Formats: sequence, structure tokens, C-alpha cells
Amino acid sequence: MKIGIVGTGYVGLPSGVGFAELGNDVICVDNNPEKIAALQEGKLTIFEDGLHEMFVKNVKSGRLKFTTSMKEGVENADIVIIAVGTPPHPETKEADMQYIYAAAKEMAQYLRGYTVIANKSTVPVGTGDEVEKIIREQNPNADFDVVSLPEFLREGFAIYDFFNPDRIVIGANSERAKALLQNLYAPFNGKTQILNVKRRSSETIKYASNAFLAMKIHYINEMANFCEKAGADIYEVAKGMGTDSRIGKRFLNPGPGYGGSCFPKDTNAMAFMARKFGVNLNLIETAIKGNDERKIEMADRVLEVAKKYSQAKVAVLGLAFKNGTDDCRESPAMQIVCELLKHDVSLRVYDPKAMENACKLVGDKLEYANDEYDAAKGADVLVILTEWGQFADLDLLRIRGAMRHYNIIDLRNMLKSDDARNAGFNYQCIGL
Ligand code: NAD
Repeated sequence: MKIGIVGTGYVGLPSGVGFAELGNDVICVDNNPEKIAALQEGKLTIFEDGLHEMFVKNVKSGRLKFTTSMKEGVENADIVIIAVGTPPHPETKEADMQYIYAAAKEMAQYLRGYTVIANKSTVPVGTGDEVEKIIREQNPNADFDVVSLPEFLREGFAIYDFFNPDRIVIGANSERAKALLQNLYAPFNGKTQILNVKRRSSETIKYASNAFLAMKIHYINEMANFCEKAGADIYEVAKGMGTDSRIGKRFLNPGPGYGGSCFPKDTNAMAFMARKFGVNLNLIETAIKGNDERKIEMADRVLEVAKKYSQAKVAVLGLAFKNGTDDCRESPAMQIVCELLKHDVSLRVYDPKAMENACKLVGDKLEYANDEYDAAKGADVLVILTEWGQFADLDLLRIRGAMRHYNIIDLRNMLKSDDARNAGFNYQCIGL
């Protein structure tokens, strides 16, 4: 099949590579010329485990191409996948639809023959109708259907998730479009569930899923606060809860709050939509507020220790919103860092992948270290903010040797508390 992918970011790029690997001819379009130039030169623009090898292989085979030209990406395509951003509106926090609508408007003129426009971006209910209207207005003779095809990949596992999805949701209102997408996803038949639903149900499934997961994280974080006061152990509690198949084991890890480019944005967009429809989504509203407050509470835990020292130096390990990615968008680590910067402390930071993106966000307000031990130099407090596996293997005596005072606040529970305490640290973690 010939596939055009519009938007070559964290979703569009791994999806393009994945569809090419399945044998399709894929053209990825992006209106960011620097991004496309880099990709055309064989340089990946995001970090994702396993992406590079598959990218190189498919570019070499000629099945995967990159362009800034919408015409090139769309005119011969059987399916055009929209994967542009839907960031939060700075004031209302609703999904900002300008990129979707601009892409729809631009592609309309190049559609040739029957084409399915599949929306992989996370979009408010009714966007399919709106995209259909825009294309129809621009090109009244176009032969097309608009389908909702929500994406559930996890950053850091994008390639794995592409080939091993828990489910594929297809929201097609026409049989013709449904048949084409079933053909596209034929390699997954018998391996995963393919759910065919109404377009509006499909658009809702994505938001309802992300909001549920965000609430689950917020729930376990509140339970961690409870355990700290009640003398319980959050891991024992999470295990005891998670072995109940109605609850499930996943997403019961306590931490500094949920973040990333999806959960905060999608919970807010869902809450906005509900208010518009006059529906009460109190659980989601409460999780949003509680999660926002949690980042400040976590920064306060650090400041509580740092304030014992004049001109305190804080070493920060981890800036990405989670391990396995360089993405700092809405990263709890970055939000905690920004909160700390409001106070009289200096920060020396290290992240194995996200330093460049962090620097784009906060620039020279931070000192950037070469590794964990370099970050710890002269520090009074060391804080772990992202769950990179390598932080679990820190040489604690070497860290201690680098620091001025020996405090660790581990907001990802990466270290064994006995090891940290035996190495002479005042050690705080979450939920224990
Ligand atoms: P991103 O910002 O990484 O990528 C979007 C890309 O679209 C950018 O490269 C941008 O230059 C390009 N673009 C914008 N307007 C364009 C246009 N008119 N023509 C061509 N290119 C255009 O965003 P992302 O993280 O890949 O997210 C894309 C969508 O997928 C969002 O709606 C997001 O909510 C959803 N989603 C993201 C994830 C994730 O893990 N990142 C997971 C599931 C769903």
C-alpha cells in the first residue's frame, strides 16, 4: 500500500518506519525543513529504542522517504495518516487544532482517486466531521473518507508497541474505509484485537484511556503519601492491589507525578470537552489538580533539605519525562527543576538522553554535567527524577566522594534504601 504520513514526530516517525517495515511504500511529510533535511541525511530526529536500525534498513530499501512537499506525500497515497501535534491551548488547555486543520486544508487539493484520511493525532470528539468538512470545502470532487485511528504507543517503546499493540482501534463510518484499513492491519490479524467502532467512539477511546491511566498514576501517588504517614509500604500495597485482576499490576508505580506530552494534555482536553458538553468529570478534574500540586510538593521535599545549607547545590539526575526517551515536554522532572529554580539553589543536572531538549527549555539556568558523578560534584542534595536504569547502579561511594553533604531524595525509588543508608546518606524515597 502507499501511505503518506503527515507529521514526522514521536508518533509519525516510528509509525512511518513501522509501516515501511511491513512492506508498504511510505512517504513522511513534515513542514519543518530542518527535520526533513536531517532525516534525508539519515539522521534520526528523536531517540527511540530500535528505531535507528529499522529506519536505515527501510530507507535503503526505498520503501521509506521524507519530504516537505504535501503534494508528494499525498497525491499517490491510498491512506494519508495525520500525525501532527495537538498541543494544549495555553489558556483554555483544550486541544489546539490549528495544525490538524492546516494539514487537512493543505492536503485536500492533492487528493487523487479514493483516499482514506486516517487521524492518528489525539483529537477531540467530532474532529473527524470537521476534517471531512474542511476537505470537502477545499476540494468538492475529492473521493475520500476520514477515519479515526488513535495511537496508543508509549514513547521509549514506540517500535515495540507498533508491532505488539494491545489493540488496534479503527473508527470508520464507511465500509469502504474500514476494508482498506483492515487490509493495512492484516499483518496483525490473529495477533491482536482489532476493534471496529464508530468514529466518535474511537476519538473518545483515546482520551478515556489516557485519562484513566493518568488517574491510576495519581491514585497510587496518593496511596504512597498515605503509606508514608501510615507506616505501610507502597510496593506491598501495590502488589496486593495489582494481583486483583480487576485492578491489574501496571501503572501502580509511585513517582513525582504523571507527565509527558500526552497525559497532562489529554486529561485537560478531556475535561474541557466534558465542560463543553455539560458533563461532570470530577475524577479527572481532581486528578489534574492533584497532579499539578504534586510537582510542587516534590520540589518542597527537596527544598526542605536544601534550605539547611546556604547557597545550596542540588544535583539532579534525570530530566526526561520518563526513561527511554529524550522528550522533556511536560516532564515532571523539568517542572520540579523549574520550581527549584525559583529558590536560592543552584542546579547541576544530568540525563543520558534529554540534555539537549532540556537546554532548549531552560537554557543556561542549569549547569549541565557529563555524567552522574560530575553532576554530584559539590552537591548538598542529590535528587533522582527520571527512572533511567543506570541510576539504580550508581556507585554510591563514588557519589558520596563527590558530594559536599550526603542527602539523596529519590523520587523514583531507584536505589535500595539500605544500600543508600549504609553508604552514609540521608535517604528519602516515596511511599515507604
Ligand atoms: P510531535 O510534535 O513530535 O510531531 C508533530 C509533527 O508534525 C512535527 O514534526 C511538526 O513539524 C509536524 N507538523 C505540524 N503541522 C504540520 C503540517 N501542516 N504539515 C506537516 N507537518 C506538520 O508530536 P507527537 O508527539 O508525534 O504527537 C502527534 C499526535 O499524536 C498528538 O496529537 C499526540 O497527542 C498524539 N500521540 C502522541 C503520542 C506520544 O507518545 N508522543 C502517543 C499517542 C498519541
